[in-house]
Amino acid sequence: MPLPGIYKKYQDRGGLGLRNRVFIFKRKPGSIVMAIILLPLLCLWGINVNPPHEEAIMAYSLANRVIVVDAGHGGFDPGAIGPAKNVEKDITLAISNKLAYHLSQSGALVIITRDEDEDLAGDNFSGSLLQRKRKDLAARVSLAQENKADLYVSIHTNADVSPRWYGAQTFYSASSEEAKRVAEAIQAELIAQLGNTTRKAKTGNYYITEKTDMTAVIVEVGFLSNPREEKLLSDDQYQEKVSYAIFCGIAKAYLDG
Ligand SMILES: [Zn+2]
Repeated sequence: MPLPGIYKKYQDRGGLGLRNRVFIFKRKPGSIVMAIILLPLLCLWGINVNPPHEEAIMAYSLANRVIVVDAGHGGFDPGAIGPAKNVEKDITLAISNKLAYHLSQSGALVIITRDEDEDLAGDNFSGSLLQRKRKDLAARVSLAQENKADLYVSIHTNADVSPRWYGAQTFYSASSEEAKRVAEAIQAELIAQLGNTTRKAKTGNYYITEKTDMTAVIVEVGFLSNPREEKLLSDDQYQEKVSYAIFCGIAKAYLDG
């Protein structure tokens, strides 16, 4: 079922013309005022309250912003695989869908790079796996560029040869002060709401952050190579917590910006 306010890429349409679209979910009168009051409170209590699934709590800071939510990997590319065989592409998709929902409920125009287990290289692509991976990443970047997104949020899980490392961490391009600000806001919420990471937002050299013109951040939501974190990351409620923390971080970054 398509979620309100969330748009998926349609390759045959050559872009979505999002600037001309209106929100397709209903706003209640006074909801923006309510959001100004409620959003900081909800985010502050994020760990203790149920996210506002039913009510369209509008975060005025997010209204009309075009945000790409990118579920890392997909299709032929599983990403990292944990010791209990949980796969990165499934976890990134679940968290991305939840994040897209929260953002759209707050008035953002959300573009998702995928909503199923697929890559973006196209069904007819015939090349090596490496070429396919490159095409997939390039297609994600084009999607954001064509739609003149304000923000690109890419969701991944981390992995290491050692199982000991854990903790969500947000990365940004060293060349963007704005990306640093957004990444730090997201990281602050991850620290406060998850209570299991003390990592700091950090510069990173990623294809996505380097090739996009807009503010871009990568959220590594935890280490799939850590058995305890792998279990958490595959849990629906924990995925909800992570997505809500990221949402609060984005909303707060734009409140300040
Ligand atoms: Zn990844």
